[in-house]
Amino acid sequence: MKILKNRILKDGKSFDGGILKVDSFINHQMDPILMKSIAVEFVRRFGNLPINKIVTIEASGIAPAIMTGYLLELPVVFVKKAEPKTMVNPVSTTAHSFTKDRDYTICISRDFLNENDKVLFIDDFLANGNAAIAVNNLVKEAGAELLGMGFIIEKSFQDGGDRLRELDINVESLAKIKELGNNKIIFED
Ligand code: 5GP
Repeated sequence: MKILKNRILKDGKSFDGGILKVDSFINHQMDPILMKSIAVEFVRRFGNLPINKIVTIEASGIAPAIMTGYLLELPVVFVKKAEPKTMVNPVSTTAHSFTKDRDYTICISRDFLNENDKVLFIDDFLANGNAAIAVNNLVKEAGAELLGMGFIIEKSFQDGGDRLRELDINVESLAKIKELGNNKIIFED
């Protein structure tokens, strides 16, 4: 996706250790015009599937997910990164955080994810795939069906993409980065 890649080159900040900061347009401050274009691209790639619900994980996935849900006129539900005491019918599993290097519980209510649901999962980054694999487990646990996973940015030098594709998950990433270093961002194509 050309405009996304150009924006990453213009405003993204890359660091040694393979970290990309996109907090001026995706992760903290958000550009809704770019976010709309991202959602249009997700619709182009997944819109032919019989999806009835968009699922994401708080917090950075919510913006692209709600834009995609708006365009497809489908409900959007975000997985929580802690189990609130007030949640009705929770289903939960454990995930590992890449950025914080620790395990945490992710949780969703069965009221909003169950055997009636055919899900498209949307998130900002695919790195090692831990968050996505935990969501895949959660979707299974809830009895729903996962039809696809869409990421704004895939860091293809990490193994998340391979792990998901090995599980036969239908993965689409709008910008694939094969190399990331201090002030160096190299896309796959
Ligand atoms: P994974 O579970 O695939 O290893 O990582 C997924 C999550 O880690 C993403 O949703 C994102 O929040 C965070 N993450 C991983 N790599 C990066 C990165 O290079 N930059 C930023 N901003 N977040 C990242």
